[in-house]
Amino acid sequence: MQPPLRTEIPKHQDYGEDPLAVRESEKYQEEYVESFVDKWDELIDWDGRSAAEGQFFIQQLRERGAKKVLDVATGTGYHSVQLLKAGFEVTSADGSPVMLAKAFENARRQGHILRTIHADWRWLNRSVHDLYDAVICLGNSFTHLHDDNDRRKALAEFYATLKHDGVLILDQRNYDALLDHQVQPTHNFYYCGDNVRAEPEHVDDSLARFKYSFNDGSEFHLNMFPLRKRYMQGLMREVGFQRVDTYGDFQETYREAEPDFFIHVAEKE
Ligand code: SAM
Repeated sequence: MQPPLRTEIPKHQDYGEDPLAVRESEKYQEEYVESFVDKWDELIDWDGRSAAEGQFFIQQLRERGAKKVLDVATGTGYHSVQLLKAGFEVTSADGSPVMLAKAFENARRQGHILRTIHADWRWLNRSVHDLYDAVICLGNSFTHLHDDNDRRKALAEFYATLKHDGVLILDQRNYDALLDHQVQPTHNFYYCGDNVRAEPEHVDDSLARFKYSFNDGSEFHLNMFPLRKRYMQGLMREVGFQRVDTYGDFQETYREAEPDFFIHVAEKE
């Protein structure tokens, strides 16, 4: 049964007495409190990100002739806005009303009106009634699903909203390197603006708890599931994607421990 989507979000993050015990796929709605979302753009630094990503996603989409794109993890709207600017027809979905409001505002300031849909991935097709050339799920978002069934369900919903020759582009942090202790906790994590530190506070097989500390002294956390690359590739194949190519920090060839991010490009046929 579909749990109701939250419309009233608490003012502060609250992980209770045992933060390491919080491993639920619904938690993301409460994690993105307004004060954290307001800081998010500082965290991901749109200019720095654009320099790092270059035209990677736009090229991937254009190579496949994609025009109609569903951004399922809109967040504060970075990719939706980039793609609108590049001429794609974009629909922007997210399960967090706080994120969607921020995205709408960010896009409006840049002269675009976002077409938004408030939906949880696991029940996406109850709210999305169209078919797309591409679904994008970027910025290490899929990590918010803490349960194997939820991941399968979400991927199946993404699959169903794609046209027969559609493509899913989904990225993830390189958790293998973290789990296998190949990177130091002091490593400077990709996507960060200058005014913030992101560091893993706790990592085990089913939890990566990160702390985000900002210059003004404010601190936030995210409890995420540490996805292994091979597991993710396997899941995508199991839900029906015929071909899955994985890039490391936007490159086709890379050493396993090196990239901060993996980007999976999964084709339906
Ligand atoms: N893509 C954006 C970026 O790169 O900046 C946002 C990334 S943010 C880490 C993850 C986003 O995924 C949040 O906006 C969150 O609300 C959304 N999200 C997480 N789990 C979700 C779910 N089950 N259904 C819908 N949205 C979800």
